[in-house]
Amino acid sequence: MHELTLLYGVAEKVEQVVKENGLERIDAVVLEVGEATTVVPEFLRDGYSVISDDYDFLRGSELIIDMITAVGRCRSCGREFPIAENKGICPDCGSFEKDVIEGTDFFIKEVRIMET
Ligand SMILES: [Zn+2]
Repeated sequence: MHELTLLYGVAEKVEQVVKENGLERIDAVVLEVGEATTVVPEFLRDGYSVISDDYDFLRGSELIIDMITAVGRCRSCGREFPIAENKGICPDCGSFEKDVIEGTDFFIKEVRIMET
């Protein structure tokens, strides 16, 4: 379950934000997760509820996951298409050969802080 490792990385980055801005806690972390990553959103949510108790600044905060559609570019005809929707097959020429050009990223999109 590498989701926990990822989440500890997220916690470290959020901690920097918290320190740099002199905050005590945050309200939500927004993660952008590409469909083509091996990250399982359910594991992220489960893991977050575990690790958010380990850090004062995360306690009680929410994890928001923005899934990014994986997009492939056909190696035969160059067509770009959403991979899952087309079951990995180019809708124009029927080729399986493609390069994933979008949806391979995992990063922190936003750290939300309640206005006081
Ligand atoms: Zn094609």
